[in-house]
Amino acid sequence: MFGLRPPLDTAEHTSSYYAATANQQTDYAPLANDVEADVVVVGAGFTGINTALELAERGREVVLLEANRLGWGASGRNGGQIIGGIGHDPERFQRHIGSDGARRIHELGIEGPDIIRERAERYGIDCDLKWGYCDVALKPRHLRQFAEWRDHQAAVGNPHEYWLLDREELRAYVNADVYLGGLLNHANGHLHPLNLCLGEARAAESLGTRIFEQSRVTEIIPGARPRVVTAQGSVRANTVVLCGNAYLGKVIPRLASRVLPSNSSVIATEPLPAKLAQSLIPGDVAVCDPRTALDYFRLSADKRMLFGGLSNYTGLEPRDLVGTLRRKMLRVFPALADVGIDYGWSGQIGIGLNRMPQLGRLDGNIVYIQAYSGHGVAPTHVMARITAAMIDGSPTDFDVFARIPHHSFPGGKLLRRPGLALGMAWFKLRDTL
Ligand SMILES: Cc1cc2nc3c(=O)[nH]c(=O)nc-3n(C[C@H](O)[C@H](O)[C@H](O)COP(=O)(O)OP(=O)(O)OC[C@H]3O[C@@H](n4cnc5c(N)ncnc54)[C@H](O)[C@@H]3O)c2cc1C
Repeated sequence: MFGLRPPLDTAEHTSSYYAATANQQTDYAPLANDVEADVVVVGAGFTGINTALELAERGREVVLLEANRLGWGASGRNGGQIIGGIGHDPERFQRHIGSDGARRIHELGIEGPDIIRERAERYGIDCDLKWGYCDVALKPRHLRQFAEWRDHQAAVGNPHEYWLLDREELRAYVNADVYLGGLLNHANGHLHPLNLCLGEARAAESLGTRIFEQSRVTEIIPGARPRVVTAQGSVRANTVVLCGNAYLGKVIPRLASRVLPSNSSVIATEPLPAKLAQSLIPGDVAVCDPRTALDYFRLSADKRMLFGGLSNYTGLEPRDLVGTLRRKMLRVFPALADVGIDYGWSGQIGIGLNRMPQLGRLDGNIVYIQAYSGHGVAPTHVMARITAAMIDGSPTDFDVFARIPHHSFPGGKLLRRPGLALGMAWFKLRDTL
């Protein structure tokens, strides 16, 4: 499509700010023989690494296989925004999960940021963790939506405080003329996502998890003890957990048809003078607007502006990613006009049709977790925990999610992308009204 191109990914990390400032460069050997395990986890993003860690904490023997590098996918290249909640409106699924199920999803959603806090503290993970988050309004109706959302959260038992800010109050946190106000909270926040991934993987390894990089699973042979196969080896285990999400590809066509890899991009400026950084986001909060193709941004620990957006359903990235995103950033912060851009990259988000993470069993002992629809930093931690609990004999929370029906995208392989791209164009148009 005009102005777009396939992402220029290789088997090494994308050229992101995160990869350049990672605490550690991993170099685990590829799987090179046939091994046995209790559980084999496929894909080492937040979902896979945390599933391995949760299982290792429960004394399970785990093998973790990653096609590229740990945190190579969305987990190591996202906006770094920690957002509580899971999916959208669990009440929509009450017919399948009951009101108790919907309430439980709300409770689990509140736990997501807490799990990240626990992980960082317990394992001493240096990942620039900060608390503070602001949704920002571009239209009066956004402010009304924020107020409704805040009231709904109180009604479903969310214990955290949310402050509705008018234009002037917002300036103490986010200082940009384009916003009419915002909704502030301190339950959410931001971090260096790749460093969290790497720290969590180190923790799993310290508890006995065997890790292999450059080990793409190409085949899964079902059975009483299913076997996953890579180019040079295989793992036979009691349970397989598939965590490849938007990058899993066609290993299991049924799963692929339910998740649409969609692209989103981020740029990182050069480090800003402290005074300038402080003047733009005085609250050092993570920021997000409520549009379909939203802007999301925050300051890094070394005071760069990390500005994300340009989400689209084609799975392609903008040819001029840096220039296009820079223009968007300057609409919000014109004061950055003379600031250089050091990094620009994109990644694939796994979108599901009903915007609720997909989790379930194939053949009983092959389990999958995918499709966070652009909001996964905190929810991945929850899904990993409840999946590990299920494998360990406590399936109650897992089964709540597994009862939610998920459908394939309509139109088959050929039509689902154009159909959705059209749908997104419509939502973008509606956002301008
Ligand atoms: C640009 C961008 C910005 C985002 N911003 C935010 C944000 O600010 N806040 C937020 O909450 N969410 C955000 N998200 C979404 C969030 O990053 C994801 O929901 C989350 O990281 C998903 O984690 P995951 O582990 O399920 O998948 P991934 O992190 O994508 O990991 C999947 C891994 O599986 C591996 N893999 C795939 N197939 C195989 C195979 N066959 N064999 C072996 N390995 C395999 C891949 O190489 C990859 O490393 C963003 C996403 C993107 C792309």
